[in-house]
Amino acid sequence: MPSRRLYVTDAIVLSRFELGEADRVLTLLTPEYGKIRAIARGVRRQKSRLGGSLEPFAELRVALARGRTFEVVTQVSVGHAWLRMRDSLESAATAWYLAELADRSSVEGTGAEALYRLLHRGYELLEAGMAPGRVARWFEMHLADEIGVRPEVDRCVECDRMLEPTDRFRWVPALGGVLCERHVAPPTADLRIELSLEALKLLKAYQRMDAEALAGLRLSDVVEREVEAALRDYVRHMLDRDPRSLAFLDEVRLGHGT
Ligand SMILES: [Zn+2]
Repeated sequence: MPSRRLYVTDAIVLSRFELGEADRVLTLLTPEYGKIRAIARGVRRQKSRLGGSLEPFAELRVALARGRTFEVVTQVSVGHAWLRMRDSLESAATAWYLAELADRSSVEGTGAEALYRLLHRGYELLEAGMAPGRVARWFEMHLADEIGVRPEVDRCVECDRMLEPTDRFRWVPALGGVLCERHVAPPTADLRIELSLEALKLLKAYQRMDAEALAGLRLSDVVEREVEAALRDYVRHMLDRDPRSLAFLDEVRLGHGT
């Protein structure tokens, strides 16, 4: 936290909850100070000046006063409301998923500039109408990178041998990536350990290609689903549990028949 009593920062609203009659507590992600908990007083009263601007996922310029338990929101202007992103339920549910991953990956009082930029970019892509599933995969892959656990998809995690197209690939998040056929795979309850060559190629693409190029790829559903399952396993391992927002996201997608 900064030493002065009042300060101004960019912030993305990760989540919020209602407190008492009229207050709202926000979890904000900021570039300089990492995660911040801030209270917006009286915000649920009709006449509140702050009210409408404190929606989840909104990107704000916010003035904060240091408080004992929570920082106190004194002024807000909205940088990006991401209105289009909220139009589709699947893209809104994906926005929530990205916010939860960012929340789990950040701490209070430690700068989070790269993470902030990543989340901003993810929302920008959703806003631009990129397929939510691809935005989510792109985000998962780059988040792993930011956290320092970039999945190994070029070499075997055990013997460091360059993987060849003719190899058999096993996806082992606990080991940090792909294991070649020369080793005994660790015992796991997970049946999705075999990875196809196409899925491996797509994982590489998520590491290397920029988002615009990824948005334009023509891919089979089977391969997209395989990579989704692989990265979900990876994220579960990285965060030590399943994100809560995933269940909702899955429901939304079932409802849309995707
Ligand atoms: Zn090997």
